[in-house]
Amino acid sequence: MTAEEKTDALARAAARFRGAHKSRIAAVAAGLAAALLLALIALTGSGYTLQFSTDILAAVTLAYGWNLISGFTGYLSFGQVSFYGIGAYATSILVLRAGMPWYFAVCCAGLLGALAALVLGPIMLRLRGILFALGMLGLARILEVVFNNWNYAGASLGLSLPPALTPVSVYAGMALLALLGFLLNAFFAHSGFGLDAMSLNEDETAAVALGVPATRVKVIAFALSALLPAAAGGLVAWNRSYLDPSSAFDPTLDLETIVFVLFGGVGTLWGPLFGATVLMLVAEEFLVYLPHFELALYGLVVIATVLAFPGGIVGIFNRFGYLRRPIILAPAILPAGEPPQKRPPRADEAPVLEVKDLEVRFEGLTALDGVSLALKRGETVAIIGANGAGKTTLFNTIAGFVPPSRGEIRFFGRDVTRLPTFRRAQLGMARSFQIPRSMPMLSVWENVVLPARHGKERQRAVEHTAWVLHVSGLAPMWRDRAGRLPPGHQRQLEFARVLALAPEIAFLDEVMAGMTVEEREVVRAAIRRLPEFGVAAVVLVEHVISAVADLADRMVVLDFGRKIAEDTPQRVLRDPAVVRAYLGEPR
Ligand code: ATP
Repeated sequence: MTAEEKTDALARAAARFRGAHKSRIAAVAAGLAAALLLALIALTGSGYTLQFSTDILAAVTLAYGWNLISGFTGYLSFGQVSFYGIGAYATSILVLRAGMPWYFAVCCAGLLGALAALVLGPIMLRLRGILFALGMLGLARILEVVFNNWNYAGASLGLSLPPALTPVSVYAGMALLALLGFLLNAFFAHSGFGLDAMSLNEDETAAVALGVPATRVKVIAFALSALLPAAAGGLVAWNRSYLDPSSAFDPTLDLETIVFVLFGGVGTLWGPLFGATVLMLVAEEFLVYLPHFELALYGLVVIATVLAFPGGIVGIFNRFGYLRRPIILAPAILPAGEPPQKRPPRADEAPVLEVKDLEVRFEGLTALDGVSLALKRGETVAIIGANGAGKTTLFNTIAGFVPPSRGEIRFFGRDVTRLPTFRRAQLGMARSFQIPRSMPMLSVWENVVLPARHGKERQRAVEHTAWVLHVSGLAPMWRDRAGRLPPGHQRQLEFARVLALAPEIAFLDEVMAGMTVEEREVVRAAIRRLPEFGVAAVVLVEHVISAVADLADRMVVLDFGRKIAEDTPQRVLRDPAVVRAYLGEPR
C-alpha cells in the first residue's frame, strides 16, 4: 500500500467515525424522546396502561441485567431469577419485619443480590458454557426449595404484602431501574472494563494471556447483572401484593428474559430495550386479538426473526449502518503513536527468565521432566523437538496455564511459579499462540488496545496501540473486525498483541508455521527487531529449523519432556543425540 493509499484509508476511517458519532447522538436523542413520550402515555393513561408500562420496564430491567453477564461477558445464565427471588424476599422481609421504608428496602435488596453474586461468582463462574447455565438453573431450584421450607419467609404459603406502594411510585422506581440497566450496559459497550468483559466472551484463554484479570472482571459483571433483577424483584413483589417461592423463582421469567435479549440483539446496548418492549407489545396484541393462538404466534415471530436476523433487531439496524457499537478507546484518526518506554537494565540485573527443574505431569504422562533454562537480557533461544516433545507445555507452564508439579520459574529474579497468568502477562511475559487466537467480533484496534491498556493511562494506551498497529503493518485495517482478516493478517495480529503488552520477554509459538518463504522472511525481520522495541529476551518454538537457526543465540532440544541438548545452533544441529532424537538417524 502506498503512502497516498494509506492516507486515503485513514481519511475514510475518520469520516466513518464522524458519521457513527452523529448517528449515536441521534439514537440517544430519539431514545430519550421515545422514553418521555411513553412515560407521558403511561402516566396519563388508564390504570391498565400504567401497569402494562411497569411490566415492560421490569422486562427491560431484567433483560439489561442478563445482557451484562450473558451478552457482553458470554456466561450464559439460566438462573438470574435467583437474584430476582432473593431481592423480592429481601425487600418483603425488610419492609414487613424490620419496618424499613420500601424504597430503602429495594435499594438494600439490589445490593444484597449483588453481594450474593460476589460470593457465588468465584465458584459458579469456574463453570463455562452449558455447565454454568445448568449450574445457575440449579441454584434457582435450590433457593426455591430453601424458601419453601423457611417459615420466617412464609414457607410454601408465601407472604401477603399490604398495599404500601402506589402504582405510580412502582412505575417510577422501575423506570429508574431500567435507566440504571441502560447506563450499566452503556458502560460495558463503551469502556475498557466492557472490553475486558467482551474479550472473555470471545476467548477467555487468549484474554488472560493478554493480561485480562478474568476472575475479577466476570465476578464484577455477575454482581452488576444480579443487582438489577434483585432490585426489580423487590418492586414487582410489592406491585403484586403476594409473594411465594414458585413465583419468586419462576424459571419462565429467565426464559422470557433470554428470548427478549435474543430478539433484540445479544451483547448490544439497545437489544434488551428493543427486544423486551417489542415482544411485550406483540404478546399483548396477540392476547387481545388472537387469544387462542397467542403463544404459538409469539413463538413463531421470535423464531422467524432470530433465524432471519441472528443479530436480532439491532442486527437489522447494524446492517444499514445504524446503532453499531463504537470501537472502544479508538481515536477519530489513527495517530502516529509512541513506542513504549524501554526499561534500562540495572547493573545487578537477574536473568530475564530462570526455569529450574520443571516437571509437568498429565495423569500418567510426564510432559516435562526436570527442564531447566535461563535467559539473559539480549538473548534469543529456540526450543526444538519432535511432535509431543513438550515444547508447548513448557510455554504453557511458564505463562501460567499449566501448574508444574515440581520446579520454579523466576522472572528477573522474582518467583512467578504460582502467579496467575494475567499477572505474568502484565509483568511483561507475553506469548503468542500456535494457532492465532484473535478475537473475531472485536475490531483490530480493540484486539491490540486490550493488552496495551493495562497499567497505562488512556492517552498512553492509545499512543502505544497506534504505534503497534503501524509497526505490525495493521494500520490500514485498524477499524476492521478481526474475524474478517485473512490468515496472514491474523498472524500479524497475534504478533501485534504480543508487542502491545510491551513485553520484557516474548514467547513465540510456531509463528512461522505454514508460511511461505517470503512471509517467513517478514516475520524473521520482525523478530530481529524485537530488542529495538524493548523486548529483553525472546523464546521461539519452531519446527522449521532453518528459519530459526540464524536467529537464535542458543538452541534447546526437548525429547519426551527432557532437555537433551543446549548449545549454539551450529553445535546442537551436529550433536548425534539430537540428530537421532529429532532429525532422524543419518543414513
Ligand atoms: P507439537 O510440536 O506437536 O506442538 P509439543 O512439543 O509442543 O508438540 P506438547 O503439546 O507440549 O508437545 O505435548 C507434550 C505431551 O503432553 C504430548 O504427549 C501431549 O499429548 C501431552 N499433553 C499436552 N497437553 C496435555 C493435556 N492438557 N492433557 C494431557 N496431555 C497433554
